[in-house]
Amino acid sequence: MKAAVFHKAKDIQYEHVPDPRIEDPRDAVIRVTATAICGSDLHIFNGYIPQPHDLVLGHEFMGVVEEVGKEVKNLKKGDRVVVPFPIACGHCFFCEHKLPTGCEKSNPKNYGPKGTLTQKGAALFGYTDLYGGISGGQAEAVRVPFADYGPRKVPASLTDEQVLFLTDILPTGWAGVDKAGLKAGETVAVFGCGPVGLMAQKAAWAKGAKRVIGIDILPYRLAKAQAVCGSEVINANEVDPVDAILALTDNRGVDVCIDAVGLEAETSTAAKLINAAKFQAGSAKIVTEAFEAVRRGGRVSILGVYATNYGNFPLGPFMDKGIQLWAGQAPVHNYIDHLIHLLESGKIRTDDIITHEIGLDQVARGYEMFNNKEDNCVKVVLKP
Ligand code: NAD
Ligand code: ZN
Ligand code: ZN
Repeated sequence: MKAAVFHKAKDIQYEHVPDPRIEDPRDAVIRVTATAICGSDLHIFNGYIPQPHDLVLGHEFMGVVEEVGKEVKNLKKGDRVVVPFPIACGHCFFCEHKLPTGCEKSNPKNYGPKGTLTQKGAALFGYTDLYGGISGGQAEAVRVPFADYGPRKVPASLTDEQVLFLTDILPTGWAGVDKAGLKAGETVAVFGCGPVGLMAQKAAWAKGAKRVIGIDILPYRLAKAQAVCGSEVINANEVDPVDAILALTDNRGVDVCIDAVGLEAETSTAAKLINAAKFQAGSAKIVTEAFEAVRRGGRVSILGVYATNYGNFPLGPFMDKGIQLWAGQAPVHNYIDHLIHLLESGKIRTDDIITHEIGLDQVARGYEMFNNKEDNCVKVVLKP
C-alpha cells in the first residue's frame, strides 16, 4: 500500500510501505477513507519532537474494517468506524480508572511512571517511537491494536467529513472545557484559533458559556472563529491579549482559559534564542498568558503540546491566584460516544472548519500548506 512516510524534519513522502496485517488477536485492519493533518503532526514535521527513523504518520483517521483478529467481537468486515488517537487496552489499572492515555499496555518500550523525556504514556497512532512507534493512519490502510476497545461505529447518515474529527480534535476541545469544569453562564478565553482552538470554542458554547473569546495572531483564523463559532476575537499581534481580556472582564479575568497553541507559539527572536539555550522545545509563553488572563480561583486547561521542561513556568501566579490546572493528551474514549450523539442530533457541527480536501498523494503539499498557513488553510483532510 501507499502511505505518508516521515523521513526527517520537513521531509514527508507518499510512498510504498508493507501492507498492515493482523499481528495480535485483538487487532483490526482498517481501510482508511479519510484522514487529517493535526497541529501535533507539525511538531514532528518541524523537528520539535524527534523521530529518529522512518514512520508512517497520522493519528486522525477513519475507515472501513477490512479484517479483524479472532478476539475482536464488536466489529466485522465492512463496518464504518472512527478510531480514537490514543491506543488503550481497556483492562489495565489506568484504563479501568478511565485514563486511556495512561494505558500501561500499549507502549511497552517507552512507557514510564515519571513522564520524563524518555518515559511516556499510552501509545498514539503515528506519533514517534517514544509513543509506541505504531504506524499511523495517513495511509491507505492501518493496523489498529486493541480494536475491541477503541474504534466506534458511526451513523450511516453522517459523512466522513462530519465524523472524522471524533478521532481527536473534537474530543480534545471538549476535554479542555470539561476538565476546566465550565459552568453555564461563564466566560472562556481560548488561545489559538487553529482546529483545536475552534473545537474548544464550539465545546464551550455547547456547554453553556455566556461569552467565548478566541485569541490568535492570524486574521484569517480569527475570522474563522467568528464565522464558525460566533466568538469574540482578539488579535495578539495588535494588542496585548492579557490586557485585552482583562479589559473585557471588569479587570477580573475569565473563568476559564484554554491553551490551544502549544510549544510552537509565535514569539520574539530573543525569546527563541533563550529557550534554545535552555534546551526547551519551543516556548511556554501561552501558559503564562493563560495564568495572567484567568481570574483568581479560575481554571486553565492546557491542550497545546509541550515536550520538555520549561524553566520559566509561571509557578508564582499559579500559586498566588489559586488556579486549577489540567493538561494532557485528550482521553478520547471517555467522550466519543456522547459526541457522536451531539453530531447526530446536529447540536454541534465540525466539518465547517475544513478548508482543504486533497488526495493522500498530495500529503507533502498538505503539510507545507498547513504548516506555513498558506491559502487561508485551517484544516486539511486527505482522501486515500
Ligand atoms: P495549529 O498550529 O493549527 O493552531 C495553533 C494556532 O495558534 C494557530 O492558529 C496559530 O496562529 C496560533 N498562535 C501561534 N502563536 C500564537 C500566539 N503567540 N498567540 C495566540 N495564538 C497563537 O494547531 P492545532 O491543530 O489547532 O493544535 C493546537 C495545539 O493542540 C498543538 O500544540 C497540538 O499539538 C495540540 N493538540 C493537543 C491534543 C491533546 O490531546 N492535548 C490533541 C490535538 C492537538
Ligand atoms: Zn491530533
Ligand atoms: Zn490499558
